[in-house]
Amino acid sequence: SGPQVARLVASRVLDVPDFPKPGVVFKDLMPLFADGAVFREVIDGIVAYHGRESFDAVAGIEARGFVIAAAIAYATGVGVVPVRKAGKLPRATHSASYALEYGEATLEVHQDAFTAGHRVLVVDDVLATGGTAEATLDLVERAGGTVSGFTVLMELAFLKGRERLAPRPVHALLTV
Ligand code: AMP
Repeated sequence: SGPQVARLVASRVLDVPDFPKPGVVFKDLMPLFADGAVFREVIDGIVAYHGRESFDAVAGIEARGFVIAAAIAYATGVGVVPVRKAGKLPRATHSASYALEYGEATLEVHQDAFTAGHRVLVVDDVLATGGTAEATLDLVERAGGTVSGFTVLMELAFLKGRERLAPRPVHALLTV
């Protein structure tokens, strides 16, 4: 159930103060990935929430999103598409840039990544300000996909990413 999965996520995240810079509390979900039974329950929880017939592909955001996306893809038999940091994908890409606190970041996806009209479930580990997710949802649509859902393991509500993405729905297994 939802509350049960939320408790599982809460039990497998480590708070790392001042990483990668002073003032940031990094939510380290490696313990969740490392616990096979918990990881499987979390993946099954995401699939059950959306319904395994609701998407035709899953897109993961570099790099921790790849781990989640690949597991969902394997569990459901759909393909996985990586959304990558600039300069990593070898062929023609769409790219989307967004502002960070200092400077800017760019994400890319291959132009032929999706079959037109394919319904794409987008996943990442943590939703903070929502800039990364906003750029990714835009890329999926520019590459011909239709976003069918967006799930994160953990949402940091005080950074208001959900409001930034509205009216698109955000599914978070755990909100803190
Ligand atoms: P944002 O674009 O601000 O929503 O940041 C989300 C992206 O940065 C995700 O790919 C996260 O993996 C990562 N991220 C941002 N803040 C944190 C945090 N406090 N702990 C762990 N990852 C974070």
